[in-house]
Amino acid sequence: MHLIEVKGSQDPAVCIILARLGCLSEKQMRAMVLTAPGAPLQMQERPDPRPDDGQIRVKVSACGVCRTDLHVVDAELPGIRYPVIPGHEIVGRVDLVGSHVTTHGIGDRVGIPWLGYTCGVCRFCKEGMENLCDRPLFTGYTRDGGFATHTIADARYAFPLGEDGDDGRSLVMAGNAERLGIYGFGAAGHIVAQIVRWQGRSVYAFTRSGDVAAQDFARRLGAVWAGASGELPDAPLDAAIIYAPAGELVPAALRAVRKGGKVVCAGIHMSDIPSFPYHLLWEERQLVSVANLTRQDGLDFLKIAPQAGIRTQTTAFPLVEANDVLGKLRTGQVLGAAVLKP
Ligand SMILES: [Zn+2]
Ligand SMILES: [Zn+2]
Repeated sequence: MHLIEVKGSQDPAVCIILARLGCLSEKQMRAMVLTAPGAPLQMQERPDPRPDDGQIRVKVSACGVCRTDLHVVDAELPGIRYPVIPGHEIVGRVDLVGSHVTTHGIGDRVGIPWLGYTCGVCRFCKEGMENLCDRPLFTGYTRDGGFATHTIADARYAFPLGEDGDDGRSLVMAGNAERLGIYGFGAAGHIVAQIVRWQGRSVYAFTRSGDVAAQDFARRLGAVWAGASGELPDAPLDAAIIYAPAGELVPAALRAVRKGGKVVCAGIHMSDIPSFPYHLLWEERQLVSVANLTRQDGLDFLKIAPQAGIRTQTTAFPLVEANDVLGKLRTGQVLGAAVLKP
């Protein structure tokens, strides 16, 4: 007897029973796949993936499109194995559970972030810095991600009711700055700005020159100042976070921070940093990067997010339009965050 006829049923109980029995059709998954460096993503159909031990299968509700996805598509990051499905800001519901998973059940809403796996035994993992793990796997980069109808995740790295959390870490790194500059006011910047403001600190938003829409958007979200990245506000900043992947922003931000101030590079990739006079770094200014996120960073961020009343500005696009959306992101045509919906 075949139960597959029932698969279109909207009754979740029936679907759950069928999923548990493994009776759902094996050809439901669609994904936008990167097959070669710089190639446009291709829509492909695949047999539904099955979770291994300790894994969950997630039916994707939405997946954010991020600068990092552009770096993957453009092969600006090392070690990409093709084909790969990009996308690491995944929200969805668990629809199949592998053995030995006790933390998640079918129907649970989860967030699947960038950090997809860590080894647990290297010195960084042992010292609470799993974001720097020697043998990590990253969602949508070294393991398949969420530009798809379904994805497989290691249950230990899936957040209950989550969203991407890698924005929280750069804020921690920026310390207790009263006057914080944000260079690149996009998906991450507009979320961090709301937290900073909720904390009673002042946000200075730096955008591409002439990007009036992004500057107005920043002011609407409470930025006390918004301008072009080459400009200087009325007084020096205590710290700055750079989200845009442009190396020339490093000397620009160093110029804008006070003595002892900090500049945090939050992106995974950046164009070369031009040489700059030593006096921009002198007087104990600090230049640091942040890499990835720990699971605890994500949990901390998810705890703060509702308290801060964060409202994300998202624009949804159909999964099949992933290439267009990446193009829009590349040319700065996305206000806030773009998400793909299967
Ligand atoms: Zn991201
Ligand atoms: Zn490790």
